Amino acid sequence: PIIPDYLAEALGDVEPDNSGDLAAYIPELAAADPERLGVAFATVDGQVHGAGDIDVPFTIQSISKPFAYALALADRGFAPVLAKVGVEPSGEAFNEISLEGGTGRPFNPMINAGAITVHSLTGAEGSGPAERVERVLDGLSAFAGRRLVMDEEVCASEMAHAHRNLAIAHMLRSHDVLTEDAGAVVDGYTRQCSVLVTTRDLAMMAATLANRGVNPLSGEQVVPERVVRQVLSVMLSCGMYDAAGDWTTQVGIPAKSGVAGGLIGSLPGRIGIATFSPRLDPHGNSVRGVSLFERFSSDMGLHVMEVP
Ligand code: GLN
Repeated sequence: PIIPDYLAEALGDVEPDNSGDLAAYIPELAAADPERLGVAFATVDGQVHGAGDIDVPFTIQSISKPFAYALALADRGFAPVLAKVGVEPSGEAFNEISLEGGTGRPFNPMINAGAITVHSLTGAEGSGPAERVERVLDGLSAFAGRRLVMDEEVCASEMAHAHRNLAIAHMLRSHDVLTEDAGAVVDGYTRQCSVLVTTRDLAMMAATLANRGVNPLSGEQVVPERVVRQVLSVMLSCGMYDAAGDWTTQVGIPAKSGVAGGLIGSLPGRIGIATFSPRLDPHGNSVRGVSLFERFSSDMGLHVMEVP
């Protein structure tokens, strides 16, 4: 088995690196096992190759952002979403309290300000908080090709310390980017971040993006192709926050990280890749995950700017 052997060897090489820290600002995440390590590749025809802890559940966190963005674009159309959330890299931390001058729009949908706004734009126009959470859970499940559930403990733990996201939401409300109760939107966004996934699920979700929005297992067209192009473009330019420039030049794969330690990459027409290792670098990206992606990109020539 060439691929599993290669993946197991790659894990063995990054395993000794125990640098970085667990996300301490969400107490429940600080209790995670820092040694967990897994990688999965899902091809656009639905084959999964993996090594390590690929069936251990953890919360999706910010990896939900590109998928929720896809759902909002599909549900509301491009114009209403772009009117509220830009597509420019911010060069700032994921939880920075900053909005575009003049419009008050968040810079992009991958930072918290943008993702909180995007959450408010999911579901049909006029959807209430509970309907939006249901739409997001259904949508994330369709991307994964199986029914996903939420981790109520992680959700409650984050909500009890969500002062920064609440501050961001209140700022958005003051600029009329949010037009409803800021607390209810943060609650829904936090639920979205608390959805439990495995490394295998994340690889399949990334493969759905790589496969023009069609889940390789179920055959369902989860979002239109035009939406996928938009989402992958924003992942490439903004998915790794203030490390996006380094990532795009070094790795060159549309990607998204989460503070529970997940990391996905999606290569159009080819594969979805996911890694899981909870220790994070100062940007909030998984230390071993970034190393693994650097290696995969150079070993297999996966950089999107390289001629295959
Ligand atoms: N729920 C987390 C937050 O809003 C997600 C952040 C992340 O994964 N980078 O702070």
